[in-house]
Amino acid sequence: MSKVLIIGAGGVGGVCVHKCAQVPEVFSEIVLASRTIEKCDAIASSVKERTGRDIVTDTVDADNVPELVDLINKHKPALVINLALPYQDLTIMDACLETGVHYLDTANYEPLDEAKFEYKWQWEYQERFKEKGLMALLGSGFDPGVTNVFCAHAMKHHFDEVHQLDIIDCNAGDHGHPFATNFNPEINIREVTANGRYWEHGEWIETDPLSFSMNYDFPEGIGPKKCFLMYHEELESLVKHLKGLKRARFWMTFSDQYLNHLKVLENVGMTRIDTVKYNGQDIVPLRFLKEVLPEPAGLGERTKGRTCIGCRIKGMKDGEPKDYYIYNICDHEEAFKEVASQAVSYTTGVPAMIGAMLMLTGKWTGEGVFNMEELDPDPFMEKLNIHGLPWTEVTFKN
Ligand code: NDP
Repeated sequence: MSKVLIIGAGGVGGVCVHKCAQVPEVFSEIVLASRTIEKCDAIASSVKERTGRDIVTDTVDADNVPELVDLINKHKPALVINLALPYQDLTIMDACLETGVHYLDTANYEPLDEAKFEYKWQWEYQERFKEKGLMALLGSGFDPGVTNVFCAHAMKHHFDEVHQLDIIDCNAGDHGHPFATNFNPEINIREVTANGRYWEHGEWIETDPLSFSMNYDFPEGIGPKKCFLMYHEELESLVKHLKGLKRARFWMTFSDQYLNHLKVLENVGMTRIDTVKYNGQDIVPLRFLKEVLPEPAGLGERTKGRTCIGCRIKGMKDGEPKDYYIYNICDHEEAFKEVASQAVSYTTGVPAMIGAMLMLTGKWTGEGVFNMEELDPDPFMEKLNIHGLPWTEVTFKN
């Protein structure tokens, strides 16, 4: 029985609150705080309607450490789940250290003016969390998150050595808008327009954005789709923790329509993350663009189709080569029926709830800063099957 404070009332925050509310034996009290109280209240009323549970709501500017400290001291949670934006990771970690509370997030810290997708800033908190006897769990979403746990599961149960890892993220859904992103537009576009990068034989190889693609035949009727090589943050921790790895890559599917719109937005300068003057005011074009694009939290009602995210892993088992694939398929409409959200927020909000549950029930404990693959995958894999993200594994005959 624990009180949890969730910060961020967007698409992912909404799912996480609904899912925590479904498990009252662990999450006995839930507080949701964000910048805009109306969004917190709308989620609270949806949860009340679906589960009968009361969610306490509050406001906070999560860029401001003293405000965060006051919020945490007011509500006294056992754990803070950070589902605001990557820009707020360090301020929320600072506030957790000051108040002596455990921390969890789903995306690595990003400086506002650089798209880096690196863990280095958060890994620097290692000693401070250790000294305070606190745990910080990084990247408890789907990718990063479940993909890291899939790798740990494969290492523990299927391989003696893992040589090749391909994380493949397919959204075969359609929201009917000419252009919209399924999670925060600013973070999504920063990620997609950045250079690609993969790891091979001990070094990083950089590629131009979306310049490298492959076709992958997705299971269960989804079929073949074009996937583009991108850099994704979990690669940084996985190459550190998966011993024997020779190559690690990340792939994502995009429709031609998405890519065409993105190209135009890039060409006209709307994806820039530096400051420009507009009517005497400083504005960042990408942040302005975000304001006029559809909100990811509002896409649920109109999104159809499925996501399929998984890991294709090759390596050795008992002296023989092994080719293995583990994946989850999530249906946008089913997710909407359950928690009023599309599957991209669902596949992130559910693992955030599961990571929190494992920390609060003492199944995942530790002092310091942890990436998901450093912890025992078994309880997490079990909870995925119970809480809406069942997984399937296939071994291919060579
Ligand atoms: P949204 O933009 O839908 O929601 C973000 C929320 O954070 C909004 O409610 C916003 O408030 C709030 N917020 C932003 N800045 C502040 C601030 N300074 N103080 C308080 N609240 C603030 O984003 P998503 O829900 O799509 O994404 C949430 C997080 O999940 C992001 O970090 C994203 O990168 C991550 N993510 C991780 C994935 C994974 O698989 N690991 C996949 C998808 C997302 P307001 O409404 O007022 O703007």
